[in-house]
Amino acid sequence: MNHVVIIGGGFAGVWSAAGAALARRKAAEAGEAGAEAGADLRVTLVAPNDELVLRPRLYEPEPDRATVALDRILDPIGVARVRATVTAVDTGRRVVVTDGGTEIAYDRLVLASGSRLVPPADLPGAERLFDIDTLAGARRLTAHLRGRDGYAAVVVGAGFVGLEAASELAARGRVLLVDTAETVGEPLGPGPRAAIEAALDELGVERRLRTTVTEVGDGYAVLSDGDRVAADAVVWSTGIRAGELTRQLSDDLDHLGRVPVDRWLRALPEVFAAGDAAAAPYDAEHTVMQACQHATPLGKVAGYNAAADLLGVPPRPFTPAPYVTCLYLGAAGGVFTRGWDRKVMASGEGGAYVKEQINGYIHPPVDDAGEILAAADQVYIDLPFYPREEAAA
Ligand SMILES: Cc1cc2nc3c(=O)[nH]c(=O)nc-3n(C[C@H](O)[C@H](O)[C@H](O)COP(=O)(O)OP(=O)(O)OC[C@H]3O[C@@H](n4cnc5c(N)ncnc54)[C@H](O)[C@@H]3O)c2cc1C
Repeated sequence: MNHVVIIGGGFAGVWSAAGAALARRKAAEAGEAGAEAGADLRVTLVAPNDELVLRPRLYEPEPDRATVALDRILDPIGVARVRATVTAVDTGRRVVVTDGGTEIAYDRLVLASGSRLVPPADLPGAERLFDIDTLAGARRLTAHLRGRDGYAAVVVGAGFVGLEAASELAARGRVLLVDTAETVGEPLGPGPRAAIEAALDELGVERRLRTTVTEVGDGYAVLSDGDRVAADAVVWSTGIRAGELTRQLSDDLDHLGRVPVDRWLRALPEVFAAGDAAAAPYDAEHTVMQACQHATPLGKVAGYNAAADLLGVPPRPFTPAPYVTCLYLGAAGGVFTRGWDRKVMASGEGGAYVKEQINGYIHPPVDDAGEILAAADQVYIDLPFYPREEAAA
């Protein structure tokens, strides 16, 4: 029996599983030969986690709410799950090896092992750093600050994640945002800068640019300009890279450690990659972002194509929807932008409304095979995200 194995239980892995199950369903519906091929295809997802973590919501004060049980998505669509970490991929023998020493053979593999924050290990006091990169990290931060209103927090990195963390932390304490760049939100470009600056002013978030943290101690942080500042928590947000498994597929990784794939998301003849692990072409000028707005359609296509390859079903090219961003800015609302120049479409309350819609939309359907497979079939969605007043009109 043919076997599609998917490594990873994040957005890309889950949607790869649904994509593969969809191709199997389509083959079965296509007629007798297809039905036989479909019945003959197993799909297995391997990941150490029992829950899909909705990472974009990890800035929230109750991060445990940002999870969905994997079995509620995988069981209804007939995808098996192995709870393990993959330690090696042997593309010659077509097996993956788990941390328990088990070998799992595949006919097609989807690498969806995502990304992780790589904080500076050599920073004095690095063990005191907090993050909101993982559920465990977000839990640790919220537990540390619970009941400590008026705290002093330092957030390192004024990019997407750092801005959201700083905005949330500003609700109950004083926040200093530091970044080595010349401006806040440097990775977002000049488009939304004025809106972000205005929101940070409103929230009272202090900024220190061309600066980083050089030491973390008990209740303080030392900055690269020599200042020692009060810090009950130092939250590190910069330096997100693809997980290590990509190295086992290619020596030719991009600057984020991602494996290059073609527009069918194939990395090697029998291996596809999706999500934060994959450097897929977005258009002639851009590669996809490490963002769930890309991880989701990448997963849908990679899983579909991995199964389609074995089932004789035509593959799907990856042709992404228009690029958008939506930044959560706490009590100051949010900023929603469109296009790679990130033109601001909504800010303040309107931006917050859009963020709320997106946070609902990224929650996959559960318990119902029909709904899950229909969502897998709808690869590209350009939802009409408007500010509240336009939505009501
Ligand atoms: C705080 C924060 C805010 C964000 N906000 C946004 C946002 O507003 N909009 C947006 O589009 N994106 C946002 N993102 C990015 C988005 O969350 C990621 O792009 C998305 O999670 C990537 O999905 P993924 O499945 O590729 O990887 P991941 O979410 O990293 O999942 C990887 C999965 O692989 C598993 N895994 C890893 N290694 C192995 C292994 N060796 N063996 C087996 N399994 C393995 C992991 O356990 C996990 O299940 C945010 C991220 C963070 C951290």
